[in-house]
Amino acid sequence: MSVPSYKRILLKLSGEVLMGEQQFGIDTDYVARVAQEVKDARDSGLEICLVIGGGNIFRGMAGAAKGMDRAQADYMGMLATVMNALAMQSALEQLGVPTRVQSAIEMDKVCEPVIRRRAERHLEKGRIVIFAAGVGAPYFTTDSGAALRAAEMKCDALLKGTSVDGVYDADPKKDATAKRYETVDYDTVLADNLKVMDASAVALCRDNNIPIVVFSIRERGNLARVLAGEGTQTIVKQGA
Ligand code: UDP
Repeated sequence: MSVPSYKRILLKLSGEVLMGEQQFGIDTDYVARVAQEVKDARDSGLEICLVIGGGNIFRGMAGAAKGMDRAQADYMGMLATVMNALAMQSALEQLGVPTRVQSAIEMDKVCEPVIRRRAERHLEKGRIVIFAAGVGAPYFTTDSGAALRAAEMKCDALLKGTSVDGVYDADPKKDATAKRYETVDYDTVLADNLKVMDASAVALCRDNNIPIVVFSIRERGNLARVLAGEGTQTIVKQGA
């Protein structure tokens, strides 16, 4: 595989990554370990935008399934992503990495609002920008938020660090014959409903020609391997 020459990436981490081995919430030791990997990537000269999900705390769909109003539950989910963003900011700052959190839901006591030009300046100065609250609207997920920010910040790739090591043609937990793709086309992902990100996020990446790199962040050192074009991963791109 050729070595990717990314200058600027958007790294999306699922909320569940922050809970480490716990069943819920934030495991600060685990967040510190992931923050160290992000720091190493930044120290190699990469510009990094971060988006973190909220599934370790609250998912709108789960609230709606229990009878809550969906939009209301989604706003709670968005607030969960802000908590995760602050936890990651704290972990990065403890390692001496300058960061800024920008939230799509304004809360000026704790972070900045999303302002693209300001985010641009932060990146130029070597800061990591953590985008919180997804797109700032219910009925979306942080995958869509990640695709949107990757497009507007002109990132070379969207790296999705999650608990599985790529995209499979069937659910590997249920089907022992499931095969992992090395590369796969956006349209195959959409037509076969492959579990990568939600359809709106995949379509936004396709329309803006942003490759999606799916890999397991749970394997120690994997972010560096993936950035070096090594390690286990699946790349979703045009004409794969
Ligand atoms: N959410 C939303 N709009 C957004 C982003 C997130 O309504 O633009 C809500 C939604 O309820 C979602 C929750 O925030 O379930 C947490 O985000 P997500 O499920 O994407 O987190 P992840 O699965 O990545 O941990």
